[in-house]
Amino acid sequence: MMELPKITDKQEWCCERGCGPCRAMETDFEVFRSETLDGELLESRTEKVWVSHCCGMGLMLWDRDLEDFVETALQDTKQEDSHGV
Ligand SMILES: [Zn+2]
Repeated sequence: MMELPKITDKQEWCCERGCGPCRAMETDFEVFRSETLDGELLESRTEKVWVSHCCGMGLMLWDRDLEDFVETALQDTKQEDSHGV
């Protein structure tokens, strides 16, 4: 799994839901699931991901020096590239 990025003492993890500072917790996230038409599980693949310990939601990294959220590798999910040329 991806390692939790190192953060400085000026930074803290916050819950995506807006609960404020939280701890990072690892959990299993199902990335692939295959079932028969009867709903019988054929295959389930999970990955370890980092989530907030309070809600199990995504994490955002707050930087007290910048007074803003900073991007982390954790948010580097494979989303569509929406940037035009
Ligand atoms: Zn929360």
